[in-house]
Amino acid sequence: MKSLSEYEEVKTTDDWYQVYRIEPDLYVISEPHHFEQTLSSLLLGKESALLIDTSCGLGNLRKTVGEITDLPVKVVNTHTHTDHIGCNHQFDDIAMFNHPLCHQVSQNGVSHQIMQQEILEDNLLSKPLPDHIDPATHSLPPFRVNQWLTNGDIIRTADRELLVIYTPGEAKDHICLLDRENRILFSGDILLHGPVWTHLQGGSLSELITSYRKLMRFRDDFDLLIPSHSEPVADKDLLPDSLSAAENILNGYDRFKERIDPWNRWIREYDFGRFRILTAPAFMDQL
Ligand SMILES: [Zn+2]
Repeated sequence: MKSLSEYEEVKTTDDWYQVYRIEPDLYVISEPHHFEQTLSSLLLGKESALLIDTSCGLGNLRKTVGEITDLPVKVVNTHTHTDHIGCNHQFDDIAMFNHPLCHQVSQNGVSHQIMQQEILEDNLLSKPLPDHIDPATHSLPPFRVNQWLTNGDIIRTADRELLVIYTPGEAKDHICLLDRENRILFSGDILLHGPVWTHLQGGSLSELITSYRKLMRFRDDFDLLIPSHSEPVADKDLLPDSLSAAENILNGYDRFKERIDPWNRWIREYDFGRFRILTAPAFMDQL
């Protein structure tokens, strides 16, 4: 599978973002200067577009999307971690999973204190913040959600039908989106070439395993994964491989490193080559 920089880059004017064309109607917008390196996917139809996730909120994503397409854009978020909802307030057509965490963040936004901890610390940034961001006060404003999703719903936009599949494990409100016709699973943060986190509040290794098993029921319906971090495309074998790795960890697999992450949290890191699974050190006690 190719890394992001091997795809065709599309020039846009906000230099906080880099845009790549993955397929003629599928773009990925990356945030290379933030440690999170979140990917937002933009799908184009004939009359409408769908944006999956909205980055850390440090650039002008609305403007960047507007330089790629002038179609009306619907946003859907895979979950409410701050690196996936940062520019929601720039859009007015938003679909989210009907979970208390999603309601809470849409009503309240994200405070400066949380943005400082999760997004703005110097060690997370590889270049200075854009001029319009004041690091002393930056917060995320509330935003309006006009479509609340439940498991099994279909999002119809951008000439696609996307099945909503509830997949907690990394976050309590995480969803994946299955595009059966184009045989793509938009896998958010739970299937990717990089670390899958279960160590934050709301994360759970056992729930992640349940979600992987649920996705296995759809494995004949997709060939490719489009995740929200790391390489933009992964193959479907990542699903059974991640499932068996997570099951092994739950059963006591003990080849891990304990280290402190950039947010000063102790984690256990289980390295399986093209992907990793992170847990809290004492996760067994929490099960
Ligand atoms: Zn993420």
